[in-house]
Amino acid sequence: MTTDRLCDACGEERLVPFADLGDIPVLCGVHWEAHGDAVASPVGRMELAHCPRCAYVRNIAFEPDKLVYDTTMDTNLHFSPAFQRFSADLVQSLSERYDLNGKLVLDIGCGQGEFLKELTHVGGATGVGYDAMYAGETGTSGATTFHSALAPRGGGLPEYDFFTSRHWFEHLDDPYEFLVDLREQAKGREVFGYVEVPDAVYDLATAGWEVIYPHVSYFDAYSLASIFGRAGWTVESTGTLFSGMFRYIEVSANRPRAGGHVAHTGELPSMRARDKQLAAIAGFAERHHAERERWRGTIAQLNADGARPVLWGAGSRGVQFLTLADRELGLHGVVDLNPRKWGRFLPVTGHRVDPPSTLTTLQPKAVVITNPAYKEEIAKSLADLGVTAEILVA
Ligand SMILES: [Zn+2]
Repeated sequence: MTTDRLCDACGEERLVPFADLGDIPVLCGVHWEAHGDAVASPVGRMELAHCPRCAYVRNIAFEPDKLVYDTTMDTNLHFSPAFQRFSADLVQSLSERYDLNGKLVLDIGCGQGEFLKELTHVGGATGVGYDAMYAGETGTSGATTFHSALAPRGGGLPEYDFFTSRHWFEHLDDPYEFLVDLREQAKGREVFGYVEVPDAVYDLATAGWEVIYPHVSYFDAYSLASIFGRAGWTVESTGTLFSGMFRYIEVSANRPRAGGHVAHTGELPSMRARDKQLAAIAGFAERHHAERERWRGTIAQLNADGARPVLWGAGSRGVQFLTLADRELGLHGVVDLNPRKWGRFLPVTGHRVDPPSTLTTLQPKAVVITNPAYKEEIAKSLADLGVTAEILVA
């Protein structure tokens, strides 16, 4: 069965459905003050389809009107020391390789602005950040200007030299049109860009806890290079970061052929990588549904053994895990490092989020995490709290 929708990435084939995840939370980054509001929060359908030519994946049931971004949403990853270290290294690398001194940098989907502030500070650049979820001071302060809004389309962007966009591109309903517009707004100037997305190779080869409603598109190396190339950008390099969970792509537009000051840091995608991704897509539905059932069983068994299992991490992956594997509220608690989530309730399932210090009293024997990149950090925190528990990676 094929849909009517042409592939957003390569534009050459129609998308083919391969997995229906049913209804999932729309606002997986929001935590509610009232339990009743949390359990009544909206759901939306997730029906994944892929392109047989370039392995692009999209939720064909996505309804953009269901998801309006505002300042009450919090998808901030910056409370984790592991993510902070990763971001600091990235700032250093981009500042040096792109010689950002005196340049104008856009950050499209800047979150709460931490990354852009650091990048302008270390690189000696000026920066303009856009994010409808940005809740800080707007306007210009020092080298940075922040807008609590989406980046303007069709004109209105300043004369940028470099743009960054981290974990936003996959949220767009029209990713191809966005890229064309961004290139056209450069008006022929030589510009460069750095874009980071979740790596679909990781997301679709595993249980799929990162398949969340706000993520409309799922890119591997091949489909990411396809969509940038079709939109008129030159792909400079691509690769994975952060234990293979993130994929970056570095691109340029209007670059003179002779120029060559950008050090290539990764390999361009191969057909073999695309074929591997198509194989992962083919097995996804069965794997996903099997993992849901396996975790339901595991949580029940841990309870039967008196292990008082908890979940560490109330981010979007955690919320998706709870929706798919713990609707029965078998877990004894959910903890998170972000103080803005404490005492609040998660969408649809209504689990309450507590500070990690509550584990000192509960003394769980099993701690479930959904993000292997944080395992070491969480193990250390548990040791500091005096909790001896097995860490289970979902
Ligand atoms: Zn395609």
